Amino acid sequence: TAPWRKLRVCVAGIRLAGFSAAEALVHLGAHVTVVDAKDGQPERERATILEILGGHARLGDAETLPEGTQLLVVSPGFRPDAPIVRAAEEAGIPVWGDVELAWRLRPTENPAPWLCVTGTNGKTTTVRMLASILRAAGKRAIAAGNVGTPILEAVLADEPYDVIAVELSSFQLHYTHSMRPLAAAVLNVAPDHLDWHGSFEAYAKAKGRIYENCKIACVYNVADPLTEQLVRDAEVEEGCRAIGFGLGVPGVSEFGVVDEVLCDRAFLAERWTTAAEIGTVADIQPPAPHNIANALAAAALARAYGVPPVAVRDGLRAFRPDAHRIAHVATVDEVDYVDDSKATNPHAAAASLAAYRSVVWIAGGLAKGADFDDLVKSAAERLRAVVLIGTDRDKIRTALERHAPDVPVVEVADTDTGVMERVVAEARRLAQPGDTVLLAPACASMDMFRDYGERGDRFAEAVRRLS
Ligand code: ADP
Repeated sequence: TAPWRKLRVCVAGIRLAGFSAAEALVHLGAHVTVVDAKDGQPERERATILEILGGHARLGDAETLPEGTQLLVVSPGFRPDAPIVRAAEEAGIPVWGDVELAWRLRPTENPAPWLCVTGTNGKTTTVRMLASILRAAGKRAIAAGNVGTPILEAVLADEPYDVIAVELSSFQLHYTHSMRPLAAAVLNVAPDHLDWHGSFEAYAKAKGRIYENCKIACVYNVADPLTEQLVRDAEVEEGCRAIGFGLGVPGVSEFGVVDEVLCDRAFLAERWTTAAEIGTVADIQPPAPHNIANALAAAALARAYGVPPVAVRDGLRAFRPDAHRIAHVATVDEVDYVDDSKATNPHAAAASLAAYRSVVWIAGGLAKGADFDDLVKSAAERLRAVVLIGTDRDKIRTALERHAPDVPVVEVADTDTGVMERVVAEARRLAQPGDTVLLAPACASMDMFRDYGERGDRFAEAVRRLS
């Protein structure tokens, strides 16, 4: 604890991860000052947090760096251009995210290796699949990071983990410097969060940081050349391999699919034939193409760590998707109703639309600066009709007018009470037997709902009332 005692640390942002950072630092004897924007937390929760931190925290002005600060630990809410971050950088004070702190606070003896995942979409699904595979191999494993359990909690757990499946956002990676993953994957890179990073280049570069100093394997998506480029740009340890995953027949050093069978041609290459089997497409829930890609990425990371092929199969079979990710809600009058409320950007919505033949698509919300032309172009043939909601629905309507002018479009204004009731009623009217009514909004939800979870729940409730 020597380097930490009396160190003057400012923790900026006191949500889940910030709180675990402050707590760990207080425990190590650091002088911790916590700052948080006034609207960062409901009043009552903040009071509890302050009490737990035993008077080490000060709330309010999150703009100015406290006098004498030697280290700034920031939560992802703070953009690189936030005044407090700028002030630290100008003063030459290190700026760390919670992931950097967790890496530095790992146990010195036998620390659990990290298998890291990032990407615009599929992160949570992939780390959960990975954790399931690792457990099937008999390892004590957890999915942590940007996925519920803060990485610090996983690293400092009383009963240590053998290995950690780490989900990392582009924000977290921006503030991570010395991490050395055993293996790491970038699943895909598509425009998102451009307002935070400032440009697509900066966003992609942040994602690419996951490969820095990787030990065994940098896993990339063969269908997304930018991910392979990020591997090439990274400084890795000697002997670290680039390993691809894709939905086609795998080349050397790749994971892929042959006749519905998942194949490892990277670690089982010498015995390439049936011995390369690590599962089948039928083992994966839901069986949408993008999700098979997620499974292959999880398999590649698990195999890099050394789990046997049979554990990959068992772990994938045991995996159940989280709520609001292509969840089948009900079938009413031969129409399937599917909740993919977690599709909060165009790239995600494109993936789920691609999984169905004829769709009544429910879309709209907060666009976060996204563009809908490519999405609408790729989905146009599958659209029976579209029901639009939310603040930025005009942007999607314009794209539809341009690329799918014959598709009927209905708008439901957000001022209406019981919006989802009306949305589902419209969707039902427009759907024909065999169609899928798909909530995959391609937008964030906060203009009308607390979060994507509430949006999906409202949809499911309205659908259940139909049946
Ligand atoms: P994340 O943690 O990156 O947000 P999730 O696993 O929670 O990813 O999935 C979010 C949404 O992205 C899902 O609802 C699904 O529609 C879509 N999705 C999942 N995996 C992929 C993928 N590999 N490519 C494109 N879209 C995906």
